Amino acid sequence: MLKDLFIGLSQNQFLNSAAKKYGLKLGAQSVVAGTNIEETIRSIKELNAQGISCTVDNLGEFVYKREEATEAKEQILEVIEAIHENKADAHISLKPTQLGLDIDYNFCLENLREIVGRASKYDMFINIDMEDYSHLQPSFDLLDELSKEYSNVGTVIQAYFYRAEEDIKKYKDYRLRIVKGAYKEPEEYAYQDKKDIDTNFVKLIEWHLLNGKFTSIATHDHHVINHVKEFVKANNIPNDKFEFQMLYGFRKDMQLQLAKEGYNFTTYVPFGKDWYGYFMRRLAERPQNLNLVAKQVFTKKTNTMLGLAAGAFLLGRLTKRK
Ligand SMILES: Cc1cc2nc3c(=O)[nH]c(=O)nc-3n(C[C@H](O)[C@H](O)[C@H](O)COP(=O)(O)OP(=O)(O)OC[C@H]3O[C@@H](n4cnc5c(N)ncnc54)[C@H](O)[C@@H]3O)c2cc1C
Repeated sequence: MLKDLFIGLSQNQFLNSAAKKYGLKLGAQSVVAGTNIEETIRSIKELNAQGISCTVDNLGEFVYKREEATEAKEQILEVIEAIHENKADAHISLKPTQLGLDIDYNFCLENLREIVGRASKYDMFINIDMEDYSHLQPSFDLLDELSKEYSNVGTVIQAYFYRAEEDIKKYKDYRLRIVKGAYKEPEEYAYQDKKDIDTNFVKLIEWHLLNGKFTSIATHDHHVINHVKEFVKANNIPNDKFEFQMLYGFRKDMQLQLAKEGYNFTTYVPFGKDWYGYFMRRLAERPQNLNLVAKQVFTKKTNTMLGLAAGAFLLGRLTKRK
C-alpha cells in the first residue's frame, strides 16, 4: 500500500515541479550529494579518499521539452569534464527519458551519442539506467546503436522482469549492473512477490558472475551481499570481475566496510534539483527511509528546543500539582 503510494507520488508532475522550486528539503539532502557540480565533486573526492569509486547521476527524468533535455545533456557533459579535470574516480549514470526518449528516439540517441563520445575520450564508462517497462526495449535499442561505435557503455538488468534472463544472456559481454527493480510493474511483465524477485536476482547475479564481462551488484540487501561473497570465493571469481554498488547516503558503514575488505565498491551519487522522483522511489522501497526525513527535520537544534519545551511543560504540570 505504502509502496504504491510513494511510487504514485514519484510520478506526479505537479509535485515534481513544486519540489524543484522548494529546494532540497524534506530529508532529500541526506541522499542527494549536492545541487551543483562543485558540491558533487567535493562529495566524490571524499568517497574516493575512502577507497570508493562513484557513478554520478544528474537527477532528472520524464522530460518532455527539448530545451530541458538539451540542458540536461550540457550538464552531463560538464560533469564529465569536471570528473576528468579533478582526476576523480567516477563515471556517469544517466536516464534516457531525461535526454529526450519520450520526445523523439533519434533526438535522444544523438544526445547520448555526444555524451558517450565525450566520455570515451577520457576512457570513462557510461551506464544507461533502466526505467519503467515502457522504456525498457527502447533503452536496449539505444545501447545496441551506441555499441556499434563505442565500448564504454553498459546498462542495468532489473530482476523483477520475466525477460531479465533472456536480456542478461544477450548482453553478457557488457558491463552490467544487476538490481531488483524500482518501479511498479504489472503482473504481465514482472514478478510481484518479493521472494520471487530475490530468487531471480541471485540467479542472475550468479549467472553473470560466471559468464559475463563485469558485474555490478547493486543492492543494500546484506543477505544477497553475504551470499555473493561466499559465491565468488567458492568459484574463484577474482575481485576485478565484479563490484558492489549502493546509493549515496544508504548503509554508509557497510559501504566503507566492503571497500575496506578489498572489494571494488561504487557509490551511486545523485545530484541536482530534480530530486523528487528519485527520493519518492527510495521511500517506496523502504518506508523506514522516512527516518531520513525525520532525522533531517529534527536536527540537533530542534531537538534541544523540543527538549526544553517538554521540560518546561512537565515542570509547569508538576508545580501546578503541588
Ligand atoms: C547503485 C544502485 C543503482 C540502481 N539503479 C537502478 C536502475 O537503474 N533501475 C532500477 O529499476 N532500479 C535501480 N536501483 C534500485 C533497485 O532496483 C532497488 O529498488 C533498490 O536497490 C532496493 O532494493 P535492495 O536490493 O537494495 O534491497 P531491498 O529489497 O530494498 O531490501 C532487502 C533487505 O535489505 C535490508 N536493507 C535494505 N536497505 C537497508 C537500509 N537502508 N538499511 C538497513 N537495511 C537495509 C533489509 O533487511 C531489507 O529487508 C538501483 C539501486 C542501487 C543500489
